[in-house]
Amino acid sequence: MQFKNTREFALELDKSDDLSRFRESFHIPKQKNGEESIYFCGNSLGLQPKQTKEYINQELDDWATLGVEGHFEAMNPWMPYHENLAETTAEIVGAKTHEVVVMNTLTTNLHLLMVSFYQPKGQRRKILIEADAFPSDRFAVASQIQFHGGDPETDLITWKPREDEHTPRISDLEEILNKHGDEIALIMIGAVNYYTGQFFNLKKITELGHKQGCLVGFDCAHGAGNAPLNLHDSGSDFAVWCTYKYLNSGPGSLGGCFVHERHAQNLDLPRFTGWWGHNKETRFGMRDDFDPIYGAEGWQLSNPPILSMAAIKSSLDIFKEAGFENLRAKSIHLTSYLEYLLHEMEGDRIEIITPTETKDRGCQLSLAVKDADKSLFETITEKGVIADWREPDVIRIAPVPLYNSFLDCYKFVEILKESM
Ligand SMILES: *Cc1c(COP(=O)(O)O)cnc(C)c1O
Repeated sequence: MQFKNTREFALELDKSDDLSRFRESFHIPKQKNGEESIYFCGNSLGLQPKQTKEYINQELDDWATLGVEGHFEAMNPWMPYHENLAETTAEIVGAKTHEVVVMNTLTTNLHLLMVSFYQPKGQRRKILIEADAFPSDRFAVASQIQFHGGDPETDLITWKPREDEHTPRISDLEEILNKHGDEIALIMIGAVNYYTGQFFNLKKITELGHKQGCLVGFDCAHGAGNAPLNLHDSGSDFAVWCTYKYLNSGPGSLGGCFVHERHAQNLDLPRFTGWWGHNKETRFGMRDDFDPIYGAEGWQLSNPPILSMAAIKSSLDIFKEAGFENLRAKSIHLTSYLEYLLHEMEGDRIEIITPTETKDRGCQLSLAVKDADKSLFETITEKGVIADWREPDVIRIAPVPLYNSFLDCYKFVEILKESM
């Protein structure tokens, strides 16, 4: 499509967008002057669906009137509550229903799955991550290496971009693996890098890793609800994510994880266990040996927090109604429009470091600001843009197809221009 750099054109795009009505389903934060903010931080904390309050109130009401009976008698019985989330979650991340479960929080899940999938043996002891991995991921993998008696200085390998490039190349990963593959126990990559917005080819990375005998897992914090992950087809061994970013479930809400079905009944894997991962038929027998549930549910530890799950259900119901494929199609269009508007700007103070090919990114564009001048970010913030600044020099802009508009993109670039 031929884009135009006018407010009228942005409004036209919104008018012909079948998904634009979903914006109404969300609370859009307001500026001090009462106008709606231009919210581009769904990659950090997704906005609140208006119906979430009702979903949570339903559980509070059932708790008030039923007490413990709510486990079976609530409108949405608490005992199997997490099972209601699996189907839509599976659709969004491209997995089979029994391959996913909503539980714990992201970094906790990462540790739990590394207990199972990071098994250093002989000379195969290393973990490979991407350069500029999210700090929590780096801490988690480094501490797992230490836990197994290794030294992150030597056992943590990073896949880096070439000099003067912003994002690492798959051919360089292949080279590392050809040289060091037999020393690497686990490849753990952020499926969509939080800093650059690069969406990696999960299937390719998994194939390259498996060819060398490595296990492969992904942190999909920035992928879930944003990019088509196709986790099952990627063949990866496991994945983890949070639900408070693109999945709009509220601050600190539960995470999710994926365990490929080839491991669904793999009793050889070490795992940390709890009663909620145990066979549902005999869970309340209280005396049996651990008998894991088939699939990802077998990694659960505790009975889950229903109030947080209610918020997740609220958001997932919106995803279901909108359809993830439709959202992705709009997302590509929306981000391409933002990219076009940024290219129309004069000067060279801003450089988009996110890959240009749509298959290599989600909705986020990362803008490197020349001379790491943070005052530009501060100015646009004052003018009503909610985005974020990531050290050393990046403004991250995430137009989310569920609630951002083409007009948001237009207004943002206008504000950016007058702020320079
Ligand atoms: C947001 C994010 C986290 C945060 O982890 P929590 O355990 O949810 O606090 C970790 N890793 C990545 C890649 C993230 O984007």
